[in-house]
Amino acid sequence: MRKIYLTNNPLQTKKLGEKLAKEILKARPGKEALILGLEGDLGGGKTTFLQGFAKGLGVKQKILSPTFIIMRKFKIGNHGPSTDGLGLGPALLQKGGAGGCKLKIENFFHIDCYRIKKPKELLDLGFKEIISSPKNIVAIEWAEKIKKLLPQNTIWLKFEFIEEKTRKIAIKNFRGRVSRLFIFMLK
Ligand code: ADP
Ligand code: MG
Repeated sequence: MRKIYLTNNPLQTKKLGEKLAKEILKARPGKEALILGLEGDLGGGKTTFLQGFAKGLGVKQKILSPTFIIMRKFKIGNHGPSTDGLGLGPALLQKGGAGGCKLKIENFFHIDCYRIKKPKELLDLGFKEIISSPKNIVAIEWAEKIKKLLPQNTIWLKFEFIEEKTRKIAIKNFRGRVSRLFIFMLK
């Protein structure tokens, strides 16, 4: 499945990211990390999208373009944004079900492969361990450069510069654990 969005300003791109994050927090967790692979034009809006995405996850820090840093780790907190402040954490955990599941996600990793020459550079940073833990959500800019390290169920987002304020964002590969999520996004 493939879904295409056109955004007309950076805020719309951020909002799309925020919406995707909130849906991911609602989805059933898998056995491994949830991975977003962002590819496409420089200035296409990948970092902008991830600023909204991180906000939707409840990350408080600002997401920057990590030009010289390959990887940044952010704490998501115990409850995710939708239960934050409601004091529902432990109760939801015990109840299990959809509410309990979302509490397991703990970390958001923002990776930028722009400066990577070989996929091995990421392996040296513990990439395999990071993507094997269901506690992690991992978003990778310039993911096309490390395609061979990414699992089948990676959610691919392709960013295209259309004109000054217009970007085309194509989201594909909705298999596995997130299929329910994308039924929502297609509405
Ligand atoms: P990338 O990470 O793909 O290189 P960035 O998100 O860093 O791209 O940069 C996108 C640039 O394009 C920003 O300066 C942003 O303000 C601008 N921009 C203009 N219109 C849009 C849009 N519709 N969506 C995202 N960014 C946009
Ligand atoms: Mg970027």
